[in-house]
Amino acid sequence: MKKEEKISILQDLIRIKSVNGNEAEVASYLKKLLAEHGMKSEIVSYAKGRDNLVATYQSGNAGKVLGLSGHMDVVSVGDEAAWTYPPFEAKIEGNRLYGRGATDMKSGLAAMVLAMIELKETGKPFNGKIKLLATVGEEVGELGSEQLTKAGYVDDLNGLIIGEPTNYNLLYTHMGSINYTVASYGKEAHSSMPQEGYNAIDHLNEFMTKVNAEMKCIAEIVENPVLGRTIHNVTIINGGNQVNSIPSYAQLQGNIRSIPEFSNDKVIETLQKIVDVLNQGNEYQLKLTIDFNKIPVKANPKSSLIHSIQKQFEEPLPLFGAAGTTDAAEFTKARQPFDFVVFGPGVPTLPHQVNEYVEIDNYLAMIDSYQSIILDYLA
Ligand SMILES: [Zn+2]
Repeated sequence: MKKEEKISILQDLIRIKSVNGNEAEVASYLKKLLAEHGMKSEIVSYAKGRDNLVATYQSGNAGKVLGLSGHMDVVSVGDEAAWTYPPFEAKIEGNRLYGRGATDMKSGLAAMVLAMIELKETGKPFNGKIKLLATVGEEVGELGSEQLTKAGYVDDLNGLIIGEPTNYNLLYTHMGSINYTVASYGKEAHSSMPQEGYNAIDHLNEFMTKVNAEMKCIAEIVENPVLGRTIHNVTIINGGNQVNSIPSYAQLQGNIRSIPEFSNDKVIETLQKIVDVLNQGNEYQLKLTIDFNKIPVKANPKSSLIHSIQKQFEEPLPLFGAAGTTDAAEFTKARQPFDFVVFGPGVPTLPHQVNEYVEIDNYLAMIDSYQSIILDYLA
C-alpha cells in the first residue's frame, strides 16, 4: 500500500468523532477496509452505536496466536478554542498529524490493521494466527476488553500487543485503578439543636481521616520496584444543602492506583474494614461502593514476544512501567496467561491534551515494525 493511502486512512479514522462512544462508525470503517483486502471480521456489539471488532488472519500451519489490540474511543477535546487546528480535521503540518486520537490511539490501531493487510497482500509466510481486537470504551472503564474477555475472545492468545503510545519504549507493567464511593447517612435537624440529628458530614470526615492515614501507612510499607507505591486520593466530596441544617447525607469518592504487592482485593478489604468499624459507632451509617476495579498487570520482561520486538532494533528498547491502566487489565483475566506488551506509535505524554499529534514517520515505521514482529513471533 502506498504511503499516502496509509496516511489518509489514519486521517479518516481521526475524523470520526468517537468521543467515549460512536465506536460503531470506526468499527464499520475498519470492517470495510479489511473486506476490501479480502479479510473477514466480526462485529461484537456492546451497545447501540458501540461495536467492538475482531478480525483474524491465519497463515501456514496452526501455530501461536498473536493478538493486536487498540481502542477505538477517544477522550473529549477539552477546551476546543485552545487547539491550533480543529481536533477532528486531521490536519498535517510537516511531519505531524494533528487531531484527537492521533496519539491515543488511532495511529496505533491503524498501524495494526495496516500491518495485517500488508502481510496478507505480500503473502509473506508465517505459521499461526493474528487476531485483531479493536475495543470500545477503553477510556471510560475498559468496557470492550472486559466484554471480549468474558466472551472468551482472548482465551486462545499466546501473545498480545496493545498499540497505545510508547514512543519506542516497551511498557510491560502498569498499576491497577480503583474508584470508590462512600456514602454517609445521617439525620437532619436544626443546626441550633444538633443533638436532635446525626451529622453525615462529620461521620464521613471520620472515614476520610482514617482512610488517608491507613493508605499512607500501606504506601510506606509496600513498594513495587518498578511502579513505586500505592497511590490514594479522595477526589470528590459532596454533602449538606442548607447552612443552618445538620446534614443528613454526604458522600466522597476516591481513586487508588494499586500495585501487585498490595492487591485490589486487599485495598477493598481495607476500605470495607474502616467502614465496618465506624458503623459500630453510634448512628454511623456509611456505605462503600466500588465503582471501578482494574487490576495491576505485570508481564514477563524476558518473554519471547519482547524478544521478537527487541530483535527488530539495533539498540534494545527500554522497558518501563506506568501508573495508567490499559485494556490489559481486562485482557489478562483470560483463562490462560499470555505474553503481553504495550508498544505503539505516538508520544506517551500527549494523550488527553490539546494539540495532540503523531509524527507521521513514527506511524509509518510502526506499520513495518509490527509486520517484522509478527513474522518473527509467528515464525
Ligand atoms: Zn489509550
